[in-house]
Amino acid sequence: MNLILLGPPGAGKGTQAKMLIEAYGIPQISTGDMLRAAVRNQTALGLEAKKFMDAGQLVPDQVVIGLAQDRIAQPDCAKGFMLDGFPRTVPQAQALDKVLAGMGKKIDHVISIEVANDELMGRLTGRRTCKSCGQGFHVMFDPPKAQGQCDKCGGELYQRDDDNEATVGNRLKVYNDQTAPLIDYYQKKGLLRPIDGVGGINDIQERIKAVLG
Ligand code: AMP
Repeated sequence: MNLILLGPPGAGKGTQAKMLIEAYGIPQISTGDMLRAAVRNQTALGLEAKKFMDAGQLVPDQVVIGLAQDRIAQPDCAKGFMLDGFPRTVPQAQALDKVLAGMGKKIDHVISIEVANDELMGRLTGRRTCKSCGQGFHVMFDPPKAQGQCDKCGGELYQRDDDNEATVGNRLKVYNDQTAPLIDYYQKKGLLRPIDGVGGINDIQERIKAVLG
């Protein structure tokens, strides 16, 4: 099963992807995670991408298309994959269609997680992540037992560089201008599966599973 998780920043795509990996046994492909790893490792691509990421802008299409294409070609994607945060523009979606057609594959479902704009700012600026194990928290909705410390492994919690208020504002605008047109793109192809993204994490997971069967 080949899936795309679509939705604004803060809709819960990453959280749902991590739960779906276990349920369906297919890998999550997050271009955001791949770019953050490149930034951490200070590769040439990472240094270039960081400028865009810190400003809340999109990294150029050619860069992320290349990353996604290489990842989809890996053996662990043979039985399916879940794209999280890719595609983010219509040219990226068109490039993905071509890449998949060349491999004899296609997208089965586009899970579109819907959350109203005014809820997203608070969700994003309150996010915290464990440096060691990657577990996510939220200062209001899912606070760690000890401030700044991971409940699971005791690791240090950090805030993503691009989760500050100014950058989040840009990211939401970029989503509305450049990514939201994908809703129409996939609706026309009959692939769009809208999911209400407001509620408990488990409830949303059940809504997605009900659609995927
Ligand atoms: P995310 O973790 O998906 O919120 O992505 C964080 C940042 O990485 C975005 O704000 C962009 O700067 C960059 N990024 C991730 N995926 C893409 C993509 N498909 N196209 C362009 N930029 C991306």
